[in-house]
Amino acid sequence: MAVALDDKIEATYRRLVARNPGEEEFHQAVREVLESLGPVLAKYPQFAEQKIIERICEPERQIIFRVPWQDDKCEVQINRGFRVQFNSAIGVYKGGLRFHPSVYLGIIKFLGFEQIFKNALTGMPIGGGKGGADFDPKGKSDNEVMRFCQSFMTELHRHLGEYTDVPAGDIGVGGRELGYMFGQYKRLTNRYESTVLTGKGIGWGGSLVRTEATGYGAVYFMREMLAARGDSLDGKTCVVSGSGNVAIYTIEKLQQLGAKVIACSDSNGVIVHNKGIDLDLVKRLKEVERRRIADYAGFHKDAEYLPGGNVWQVPCQVAMPSATQNELNGRDARTLVGNGCIAVAEGANMPTTPEGVKVFLDAKIAYGPGKAANAGGVATSALEMQQNASRDSWGFEYTEKKLDDIMTGIHRTTWETAEEFGARGNYVVGANIAGFIRVAKAMVALGLV
Ligand code: NDP
Repeated sequence: MAVALDDKIEATYRRLVARNPGEEEFHQAVREVLESLGPVLAKYPQFAEQKIIERICEPERQIIFRVPWQDDKCEVQINRGFRVQFNSAIGVYKGGLRFHPSVYLGIIKFLGFEQIFKNALTGMPIGGGKGGADFDPKGKSDNEVMRFCQSFMTELHRHLGEYTDVPAGDIGVGGRELGYMFGQYKRLTNRYESTVLTGKGIGWGGSLVRTEATGYGAVYFMREMLAARGDSLDGKTCVVSGSGNVAIYTIEKLQQLGAKVIACSDSNGVIVHNKGIDLDLVKRLKEVERRRIADYAGFHKDAEYLPGGNVWQVPCQVAMPSATQNELNGRDARTLVGNGCIAVAEGANMPTTPEGVKVFLDAKIAYGPGKAANAGGVATSALEMQQNASRDSWGFEYTEKKLDDIMTGIHRTTWETAEEFGARGNYVVGANIAGFIRVAKAMVALGLV
């Protein structure tokens, strides 16, 4: 099923698998990039001579640490924390923190690896990193979350800094968690360093549009893919997976651009509402009351809740995976295409399995991979850093326009790069090659470090 690799690249990939046993998501993310790189080595032989691929696949630094904390029953709990500082050739390590029970080194490495190329695609000076913990915020009290975040930051803070590493949120890490972590950082260092975290609250150094940025950005990327085919979002029927930060603001921008979103989900089930998802209700349930998406059906009698359902079974023209890795497999992709889906843009990181990606590419539908389509979040984090550095705060419209310009630019870069390397319309090839070349050139320039 997998695309064949160039011989030398295949040997590199085999060594990587042997050296990083059991880290399946990391292997998958690396392989997906390597599949695009054969023509790049032919055009830039210095990248092979300088062993850029081997170097780019090896994190500059990996930190694993114990996170002890006490729950509300005063029982001691132990979690494992991670920060993988993957590549700083073009800027400080930048990438979110994920709190989810599934987190282990292989997940953080796959995310950190993807982040290198995504960040390069934004055109901004940000390197790649990612972190998190196998902590589950679900069902925990605010006090438990606070004690965990304080303990997590007590170790992590010594590895961070404006000129070193600047984390943000990801799954399970939103405004609440970032607030507790920033508070602890400030207490430990006695410094109000706004630039050490992004995704901060508006009242304490955050940027307008950061909350909306990943979802809005993914929709802008979708808009550009459709425009390249002479089409638009107006009147399109859409399905969005998840109901967290990315999903909510994907739905919001889709609705603003005239599309109709008829389904969303969480890890327990799917809501189908053919009249159109009531976004105010989803926001209230998920952002304010921290409830499950199942509760949506209690407010709208014409909506259907499918416990354990598969959101990709819902027929749509546009699909936006916005939950988690490998949530859309080959069978789901065939179902979507069979039901008339013409475009997929990934708000989540690596949500489509390699088999699913192949189905989309073979069917020649518009397919925007996460490292291009969801780069709006990190790009707006870099805008937040700019505002913090200049002690400035920009208005919503001004910041959103910058986000729109960045996403339009990423679409153009990935489109043109794919075309240059003989893969017209293939955004996977375009994103992998454009991101890789920018970082590889910087690594060559910086010497063997
Ligand atoms: P949230 O924690 O806000 O929401 C995650 C959503 O995905 C929830 O609805 C959650 O459901 C669902 N989900 C998570 N894990 C699983 C799972 N194993 N199976 C099924 N559903 C699951 O996270 P975000 O919205 O921030 O992140 C979503 C995706 O977007 C991730 O892949 C993340 O890496 C990516 N991303 C996020 C960015 C950001 O700025 N936040 C930036 C770029 C990418 P439940 O509540 O039931 O767990």
